[in-house]
Amino acid sequence: MSGMDQATSAAIEARLRFYRDLGLTEFYRRPADPALLAQLKAAAEAEPLPVAVQPEPEALPAPAEAAAPFQEQSFPLPPVESYGSNQAIPQEDHPIRARKLVSTPPEVAAAVPPAEHAAALEVIREEIGDCTRCKLHTGRNKLVFGDGSPTARLMFVGEGPGADEDAQGLPFVGKAGQLLNNMIGAMGLRREDVYIANIVKCRPPSNRTPEPDEANTCSPFVFRQIDVIRPEVLVALGATAATYLLGQRQPLAGLRGRVHEVRGTKLIVTYHPAYLLRDPRQKKEAWADLQIAMRELGLKLPKKG
Ligand code: URA
Repeated sequence: MSGMDQATSAAIEARLRFYRDLGLTEFYRRPADPALLAQLKAAAEAEPLPVAVQPEPEALPAPAEAAAPFQEQSFPLPPVESYGSNQAIPQEDHPIRARKLVSTPPEVAAAVPPAEHAAALEVIREEIGDCTRCKLHTGRNKLVFGDGSPTARLMFVGEGPGADEDAQGLPFVGKAGQLLNNMIGAMGLRREDVYIANIVKCRPPSNRTPEPDEANTCSPFVFRQIDVIRPEVLVALGATAATYLLGQRQPLAGLRGRVHEVRGTKLIVTYHPAYLLRDPRQKKEAWADLQIAMRELGLKLPKKG
């Protein structure tokens, strides 16, 4: 893409690749509208990052006609540096090992007015402090509290920080984070529109799955974040997030494809982006899950190609 800086061009290419992986290839085939192209180019040059347009909530098409065309795509598997670099990523659909039952989440807290969400989150962060509540603190570089809009309508919950997140103190900033950003973009949202947190706030050694005592010690804080933000929709990324948010252990396959309820909020379960990096064929399944979330949020779904 000439006349465009490398970072913008790379970001746009990544976004287009992601759409193609989802089977959304229609825009390649349409005859180009020169006026629209000039407009898009000017917008891309003005913005360092591609910014998705927020669709009109009222223009929600019926789910049947809205299903995106999915095609089997194959493309090279990118390296996964931030997650499971020296350990196999747990398979999302493997039967979950019998372990100690997770605790029942505490009662939902009283509503906090939107103007006070940021301050209320800060109070939770201060309460966590320089945490030593579980053994994960011993390997921690930076605690990863959460990131995004304190008044988000949509909140993603992952498993726990990887190496990049531990280094930066921010959730989903490694390879899996890039994919999550693309997933958010495909929904017509920007990363800064949503809130992102994890079940555990400190990196497990070698990115292993958090142990029940670690997850049970830390998850009350993510529940409190949820109670403050009160998103309309929560998306659990992977089996660990689903297990601890729902308070029940079940294979992911049995939890996907429907709307659950957690603390008065709708919960959608989907694959962890790190798993999707390992098995990109599942992206179309994840896209179907994200479309459920979009429907619940009243966001416009892409037209069938
Ligand atoms: N994986 C997660 O579950 N969370 C992160 O923040 C990064 C990778």
